[in-house]
Amino acid sequence: MTTHKKTKNNRTLPAKGVDWLHNPIFNKGTAFTEAERDALGLRGLLPPHVQTMNEQVQRVMNNFRNKSSDIERYIQIVGLQDRNETLFYRVVMDHLEEMMPIIYTPTVGKACQEFGHIFRRSRGMYVSLNDRGHIEKVLRNWPTSDVKVIVATDGERILGLGDLGASGMGIPIGKLSLYTACAGIHPTQCLPITIDVGTNNETFLKDPLYIGLRQKRISGAEFDAFMDEFMTAVKKVFPTVLFQFEDFGNSNAFRLLEKYRDQLCTFNDDIQGTGSVALAGVLSALRVTGGKMSDHRVLFLGAGEAGMGIADNIVTVLMEEGLSKAEARQRIWFVDSKGLIVKSRESLVEHKLHYAHDHAPCADLLSAVKAIKPTMLVGVSGQARTFTEEIVKTVGSFNQRPVIFALSNPTSKAECTAEEAYKWTDGRALFASGSPFASVTLNGKTHVPGQGNNAYIFPGVGLGVVASGAKRVTDSMFVSAAKALAALLREEELAEGRLYPSLKRIHEVSLKIAVAVAEEAYATKLTDQKRPADLVEFIRSQMFKPEYPDYSKK
Ligand code: NAD
Repeated sequence: MTTHKKTKNNRTLPAKGVDWLHNPIFNKGTAFTEAERDALGLRGLLPPHVQTMNEQVQRVMNNFRNKSSDIERYIQIVGLQDRNETLFYRVVMDHLEEMMPIIYTPTVGKACQEFGHIFRRSRGMYVSLNDRGHIEKVLRNWPTSDVKVIVATDGERILGLGDLGASGMGIPIGKLSLYTACAGIHPTQCLPITIDVGTNNETFLKDPLYIGLRQKRISGAEFDAFMDEFMTAVKKVFPTVLFQFEDFGNSNAFRLLEKYRDQLCTFNDDIQGTGSVALAGVLSALRVTGGKMSDHRVLFLGAGEAGMGIADNIVTVLMEEGLSKAEARQRIWFVDSKGLIVKSRESLVEHKLHYAHDHAPCADLLSAVKAIKPTMLVGVSGQARTFTEEIVKTVGSFNQRPVIFALSNPTSKAECTAEEAYKWTDGRALFASGSPFASVTLNGKTHVPGQGNNAYIFPGVGLGVVASGAKRVTDSMFVSAAKALAALLREEELAEGRLYPSLKRIHEVSLKIAVAVAEEAYATKLTDQKRPADLVEFIRSQMFKPEYPDYSKK
């Protein structure tokens, strides 16, 4: 019987020479040393010059920068991930600001739209309607049970791009890459899953290169039964995993979260992660405007997952300031596709009812802005250019420092651009967006727009949950995470107009958030683990570093 050698993390080492090159976890490519080439049977399988990792990084970056489009860059960098994960993470971690818009929004959105056409190699798992009745067996096909984080989507609402069906897989892959790149969750402990329950995307259904099932999306009781089998299987196969719901459609996202959040360690990033990162931006803005949260009136355009997640977190902060829940909710208003959400509107869904106040109807955003006079205007509608010059100027006319967040992704869906927000308010706006915008110079002053990127929050939350062994993810963990993030913003960053720390500091940010989340877990007894004396060091020591081990003695 062959015995397979294992690493100290219980990973099976490749058997013979060429297998080392074809396994992205162990592959070092041209960086295998002379001793390793002898020990592992790699002689003749590689060019003779042994490269350093730095030389490899330089080669990758030269190629990356020479590509003619972002989608080409995406294809290149995901190709590297499939060949050599250590080098991929070294490249991404060392160039995070350059890489983030490629491996995540906005380019990942385009990659999902073209997923079937640019498909090279399968990554993660696809669980489809064809697997009904034996989903547990399918999940057991994953090569390891040592999975710490799952990100799963059913592709119904990918970014602001709508139903992309199985092509939504780019999102769980990208998010998990960020768990590793930003917070050091080990790449082999991450599992992206796409649940294929059909798609209503007519273009995809007609496209011979679409990778998913050719059928309309199932819904109602049939969808619920399928999800139930899937979630039961997840609990059995990966009982302690952190499970992230990602980009589910509005009508399912709230229900699924409510149904499963007490059954396993789970959260929805679109609701809770967004709520947290936007709250951090709001708390940073408060440092500029002065005063308390209760001095503000917030008007949202868009009453979906993101809007509700943000509003609920603001309510928590308002309640900490001493307001009742009802008083807190009174400070928050929503406009959806039918106008201002008011009590007299008929057939409002449950989550909108909480924020339906006594007020005369307003048919559109401009009339709502004039009636409510918000201090903060937050766009989470997925509708491009809906913050018009007149609307932004009107908000600017009530406020010395108007807070304007245009959070819809990708960039093409943003409610306004950074330049517009600054220009229409003579540089007074405190601006944040979902996708990155370049700095804007106006009358000699440079403004650095904030990017309310969920990547500030979910990797750190995940690290805190995984490191502390927390069994549940709570709303208060996300509020603690937001406070930790806002507290990290330096005065000089605030002076540049930033509402979030530079992405260059993401490892420090993720670690601080992880510590805040773990503290919550220990304090609320959500874990059986004992709090280590040096929590920071305990968590830091678990973070993956993209370095090549020496395999010559294996
Ligand atoms: P969702 O589908 O749950 O909600 C969208 C909401 O917008 C719905 O309430 C819908 O009724 C409303 N809407 C649609 N058309 C409208 C119109 N013309 N006028 C007013 N409202 C309209 O989606 P979501 O998860 O809430 O995401 C919304 C947007 O926010 C997306 O573009 C997404 O990419 C973005 N987002 C950004 C971040 C971030 O910046 N960190 C995080 C999550 C989501």
